[in-house]
Amino acid sequence: MTQPLDVHAAEPIPEAARAEIDRLLASGDLFRYTAPQDAPVALLEREFAAAMGARHALAVSSCSAALFLSLRALDLPQGARVLIPGFTFAAVPSSVIHAGCVPVLCEVGEDYRIDMGDFAAKLGDVDAVLVSHMRGHTSDMDAIMALCDARGLPVIEDAAHSLGTIWRGRRIGTIGRVGCFSFQSYKLVNAGEGGILITDDADLVARAVIMSGAYEHNWAKHLAAPDPALEAAFARWQNRLPLYNLRLSNLSAAIIRAQLPEIADRVRAGRANHDRVAAALDAAPWFSVPEALPGEERAPDSIQFNLVGMDDAETRAFAREAAARGVKVQVFGMSADNARAFWNWQFLPGEVPDLPRTRAMLMRACDVRLPTRLTGEECDMIAAALLAAAEAITDAPRAYGT
Ligand SMILES: *Cc1c(COP(=O)(O)O)cnc(C)c1O
Repeated sequence: MTQPLDVHAAEPIPEAARAEIDRLLASGDLFRYTAPQDAPVALLEREFAAAMGARHALAVSSCSAALFLSLRALDLPQGARVLIPGFTFAAVPSSVIHAGCVPVLCEVGEDYRIDMGDFAAKLGDVDAVLVSHMRGHTSDMDAIMALCDARGLPVIEDAAHSLGTIWRGRRIGTIGRVGCFSFQSYKLVNAGEGGILITDDADLVARAVIMSGAYEHNWAKHLAAPDPALEAAFARWQNRLPLYNLRLSNLSAAIIRAQLPEIADRVRAGRANHDRVAAALDAAPWFSVPEALPGEERAPDSIQFNLVGMDDAETRAFAREAAARGVKVQVFGMSADNARAFWNWQFLPGEVPDLPRTRAMLMRACDVRLPTRLTGEECDMIAAALLAAAEAITDAPRAYGT
């Protein structure tokens, strides 16, 4: 390809955000608790909860903050053990440590999803589960919930990259006790930074609201309508919890709210782009693109695929050849200090865990951004560049049409 496609550039923020931002700048009303009611952050929470079909939402400064508050709000004992997948972003084990808990890693398979055998084997030794739907790949939530419910273990869903994903008719993020989403720039909704948690659990959200920084009686501004269960929960926890001040600003809320009406279109476009590139790659002998699980309707803004029959040197050469053709390929386990390779999480207590399946997957799993704004033609250019890169470094005969 002659001109490399910039897959990292952001999209303009919808025009609708401007008038609201001007209004906020003119009034200086940027703090969520200044207005007596209906601040942009409170409106975002109401709209997001309604769109997701959840009873409560709390908007905060990042998904990591949402994960941290969720863990703290579960009221786990100090040093509680939290099962997480061995393939996720370093912020996830970090949030577990930040919450005073100990991450326990389980294996992830070649399809980027939790290995249910290893998951079941490790469940007996943990106090909670944090399922990270890495890159929007949904682990088997039916199996996970059945196992966790049987043991009374709470499940947090890290849905940072799963906004718009449906699992057997249910929205990802609404299946566990609490679901957390990100509005960081590389996610489906871009506010630079931001996050939100959703739950039906009044006690959990009351604790999270207070710890997020609702000091004194600011929790009252989280009540859109009388809610006796929620008011009782706030009364129960008043003055009994630390304030971590992880609030979201009204400016960020204005930027997020303007994008909510676009989510459905972005999900559709992202899925079409992904499936188009996946079909082209899967037809070639060098790539395998894991399929969606039955009943999983994804909302991707990137594609992951595994290299087939390539050794380490060929894998590196493939990434180089793709870069020379204008497509940046991240092989999770190959780039130095990659934040998604568990052996680089050296802040974890103890030895680097032994996860041979996850390690083998990370050494051949490739990651290419496919922003939802790309046209079909641009997707075809990316697929063609990847195919040409593989062809350039292998002796395999062409096994697909020209
Ligand atoms: C981006 C991401 C996070 C962290 O989100 P922040 O809002 O940047 O804290 C956590 N988990 C996954 C799977 C992510 O993709």
